[in-house]
Amino acid sequence: MRFPKLRELLETLRAVSSGILSRGFPSLHRNTVPGYRGKPVPDPEWCIGCRGCAGVCPAEAILIEDKQGVRRITRLYDRCVYCGECRELCPRPSPGVVLSGENEPPGTDRKVMRRVQEFELVRCTRCRAPLGTKAQLREAARKIGPALVSASPDMLLIEQERLGIPFPPALRRKQVMRPDIFTFLCPVCRNTVYRAESDK
Ligand code: SF4
Ligand code: SF4
Repeated sequence: MRFPKLRELLETLRAVSSGILSRGFPSLHRNTVPGYRGKPVPDPEWCIGCRGCAGVCPAEAILIEDKQGVRRITRLYDRCVYCGECRELCPRPSPGVVLSGENEPPGTDRKVMRRVQEFELVRCTRCRAPLGTKAQLREAARKIGPALVSASPDMLLIEQERLGIPFPPALRRKQVMRPDIFTFLCPVCRNTVYRAESDK
């Protein structure tokens, strides 16, 4: 090749004079095509905080934190790969998460690329293990129907609370006793109560 430096110079001048050819990303909004999934956005009307979507997310983009009486669900859009599994496998009749068809705007601050939801959490009154969100237990009570609700002390408490009767206070005993079944108990503690009763 002859005069390579001269050819490079000509190419550079041609590129500079032809204007910007690339898209103005990210300042210029780029339309997405129909059917594009986009980032998942929670639907507060349908999401009950059951944490099912966190278990199926392949990118581990859904964080669950159970602290005291609150379950916090954080969707991390800087990790999300927009696969749509969280919507596909949500157990609600209308998914608790909607695929928006939109991209998360690019940026340098990861803390703004997230969506946080908080739910009231119900814990075992003995060992404090989380039993689920109140919305989740209410949905379970609705699904199993009144006949089975009346057979489960925990479900009865949830239904009573919906009707305006407050939860009974937690019983503070060293040893579990029969009345403990009328408070919220996780399966392990409930089993302990029943076994303690049957051993008498
Ligand atoms: S209701 Fe659906 S979107 Fe909400 S936490 Fe459960 S699986 Fe996730
Ligand atoms: S779209 Fe996929 S990667 Fe993003 S939060 Fe849902 S399951 Fe996770």
